[in-house]
Amino acid sequence: MSRLALMIGLAFASPAALAQDFPVDPPRAPTPVGPPPPPLLAAPATEAATAELITPFQLLDRFVLPGTRQRLQWRPPDGLGRGEVPSPITVVHGARPGPVLCLIAGIHGDELNGIEVARRIGQEVDPTRLEGTLIVAPIVNVFGFTRNNRFLPDRRDLNRHFPGSRTGSIASRMAYGFFNDVVRRCDALVDFHTGSFQRTNLPQIRADLTHPDVLEFTRGFGNTLVLHSPGARGMLRLAAVATGIPAVTFEVGAPQFLEEQHIAPAADAIRALMHRMAMLDSEAHAGGEPVTTPIYQDSSWVRTNAAGFLFAEVELGDQVKLGQRLGHVIDPVSNRRTEIVAPFPGQVLGKALNQQVLPGYAAFHIGKLTSEQQAVLEAAAARADASEAVDEDPEERPDDEAGREDERE
Ligand SMILES: [Zn+2]
Repeated sequence: MSRLALMIGLAFASPAALAQDFPVDPPRAPTPVGPPPPPLLAAPATEAATAELITPFQLLDRFVLPGTRQRLQWRPPDGLGRGEVPSPITVVHGARPGPVLCLIAGIHGDELNGIEVARRIGQEVDPTRLEGTLIVAPIVNVFGFTRNNRFLPDRRDLNRHFPGSRTGSIASRMAYGFFNDVVRRCDALVDFHTGSFQRTNLPQIRADLTHPDVLEFTRGFGNTLVLHSPGARGMLRLAAVATGIPAVTFEVGAPQFLEEQHIAPAADAIRALMHRMAMLDSEAHAGGEPVTTPIYQDSSWVRTNAAGFLFAEVELGDQVKLGQRLGHVIDPVSNRRTEIVAPFPGQVLGKALNQQVLPGYAAFHIGKLTSEQQAVLEAAAARADASEAVDEDPEERPDDEAGREDERE
């Protein structure tokens, strides 16, 4: 049985499947109607009573009791030197059994929106009504976070070094520690990011739709945008999927800002996911929310053809027509103006903030509505022909460690 099937099926699993190593007293049963059982006679072991038997959740050498929330700390295996601040981890361990969902953010220390989404969900979920366990790691790269910086002390990108190695670079050791200490405990994982290098993204799921368990996972996020993306080597979501953990990236807005207009819908998407995974009390949403389905998109970047100052003329989420002007580049010396137009009709899923650009800079990310079926077909075709791999959040930093052009999440 795949992890995802396990995740979805767990609510209906047989009691035997729930046997664990550290039994504790189950929550007190409701007062029975009728005469009490004779003293000293154990109550009959009903299926319902056995299902309530849930053990503490062990993480980072701590035990979190059922029905409670606990704050833990994670440190990289070899530390990061003096002044190191541990990374906060919140575990919400439900009173009833269910899947372990991990919300990871702050792998890039300057990407704030996802940190706030993860924080909100981690604080609002009532552990006594939760089925399963929520692990929230909102600020994995504390070093970058305290400096409002994407990178690690050695200027490496942590999201290119998973699953890491025990004896590699700082980034690789940190990735190894986090992956083994935390990620391996997850049944499913959401990794929050934002646009990179002064770009902003409409809230959107990026996932490898060629993987059936991942595709199934993308169906849970309400009416969120979903884009196929094979991802780049070393990304957390790729390493997690390779280990059998369905994982996606959730892009939310721009780095270095807190954008409520993006944070709120992203938090709603996670609430929808937890309902879908049967982790939230069914009473709370019985007959309530309409069933929403994800919006699959096929997308590509539109690049500048001139150097100068980029000025956008469209907003995130705008629908654009073929040939519509998206923005322009003004050369501040020659005053020459070059327009950027939409090569096909679609929706603005991402865009560069107004800034100085060179020719070839990826400025506007335009998505075309597609069906889940079509998105999966195109994902498979792209996998067969690597030259057609989706190009997203292209990296154009001249001083980048690797100097390669690939997606950035
Ligand atoms: Zn990121």
